Amino acid sequence: MLKDSIYLITSDQRVEDNPAFFESIKNSRGVIPVYIFDIKQLKNTNYDSLKMGKYRHAFLFESLINLKSNLQSIGADLWYFEGIPIDILLKIRIETGINTIFLEEKIGTEEVQFITECKKKGFEMIEIESANLLSKHKLPFNIHKLPLIFTDFRKQIEKNIIVQTPIPRISHFKLPEKKPAIFNVPVPILIEKDKRSAFPFSGGEDFAKERVKYYFFDSKKIFQYKETRNGLLGKDYSSKLSAWLANGNLSARWVYYELIKVEEHYRKNQSWEKIILGNMNRENFSSDSTYWIVFELLWREFFRLNAFKFGSKIFQKEGILRINKKNRNDLQLLEKWKHGQTGDDFVDANMRELLATGYMSNRGRQNVASFLVHDLELDWRLGAAWFEEMLIDYDPYSNWCNWQYVAGVGNDPRFRKFNTQLQSKIYDPKWEYRAHWLTNG
Ligand code: FAD
Repeated sequence: MLKDSIYLITSDQRVEDNPAFFESIKNSRGVIPVYIFDIKQLKNTNYDSLKMGKYRHAFLFESLINLKSNLQSIGADLWYFEGIPIDILLKIRIETGINTIFLEEKIGTEEVQFITECKKKGFEMIEIESANLLSKHKLPFNIHKLPLIFTDFRKQIEKNIIVQTPIPRISHFKLPEKKPAIFNVPVPILIEKDKRSAFPFSGGEDFAKERVKYYFFDSKKIFQYKETRNGLLGKDYSSKLSAWLANGNLSARWVYYELIKVEEHYRKNQSWEKIILGNMNRENFSSDSTYWIVFELLWREFFRLNAFKFGSKIFQKEGILRINKKNRNDLQLLEKWKHGQTGDDFVDANMRELLATGYMSNRGRQNVASFLVHDLELDWRLGAAWFEEMLIDYDPYSNWCNWQYVAGVGNDPRFRKFNTQLQSKIYDPKWEYRAHWLTNG
């Protein structure tokens, strides 16, 4: 006989294409959707920065408010709590007798520890694989044989993998008879949003879908993505999907299938017979730009799988390559870098953008990371921790693995120093970006 269960929401804050939610409903009598804001998130890290800064905090709460309303629209609700997650789950169990918890499968060290702790307290933890482009059970290699180099990974994936189609939207829902009587409501975190921002968006599934509709279908900006993706100014040089993906307001495979719809809408005259739906090969896309979004999403998958393979090594100084590099220990330099006062105008403009908005372009991130590691010769983890605090789109795997990559202890052992002045000449030849952040406001 089916039992009641909790669906514990983590980085899957959406109703559409949500495997953990779907499975909890399918395999339970009644389900309580629960989100617990872990108050440790607002504490300091070992690197003298916060785990979660104000921009991500505000975006997360926008996302939860939207999730509550979407859950209500299907007859459910959001049981929102703040505190220490295990304590709250124990209280819910006393009140309702519910002992089964469905949640998205976890990779991160702290999340895995949390699941072990729950199991020790007698909870039945049912982890469901997330809705990414790739299932770790269907890779053409064992996860422990994940290639070190991205290109080797991508070639094998593109040749062999079919992306699973999203799960249909949940239409029925039943709450258990016994539910926690007292719970909180997520309220907006009020922060001032800088008008100069390239990321003026709000958190939540509805806003994420609006952006996809705009970027993919209404404006068709997606068809210029390959040419514009190294841009620095404005909303549209890149998709800006990262923060919604990090919160799970969108699933990566849902985004992938929206891209397929784009292709079908706008390239009707092409010969489509050869297209293998779900396969990521370049020849299955009608333009370099639409393919290139998938290419970038594959980087995200690569780093996620890397975390499965290497566990906590992705957070360690020696990185996955176990190389111990010497650093300077100059915290004044770090402060100057954080506040955009290094004297390198391109680096400073990017760092001021991050400080004022919680967002920075990919081109900017590569340059400022290289500058911290190779010019200032500081420990790369100080930079990664600052990004963790500041970025709205912070994602542990993409962040720490990209930093390792730049520092030369990650998925590419080559020395990767960016000449920031040369980069500024190529990507900001008219000084527009630097003027925007160094002289405005
Ligand atoms: P687009 O250019 O539109 O790309 C589409 C999607 O592909 C992105 O939303 C993202 O999910 C994925 N993607 C693109 N580039 C990368 C990449 N290099 N690695 C992994 N995924 C990628 N991305 C994060 O999502 N969270 C992070 O915490 C993060 N930290 C980074 C730290 C450093 C040092 C560097 C160099 C890059 C980091 N990135 C991170 C990757 C990348 O900069 C952002 O994903 C991208 O700038 C987000 O903007 P967008 O959504 O418009 O990207």
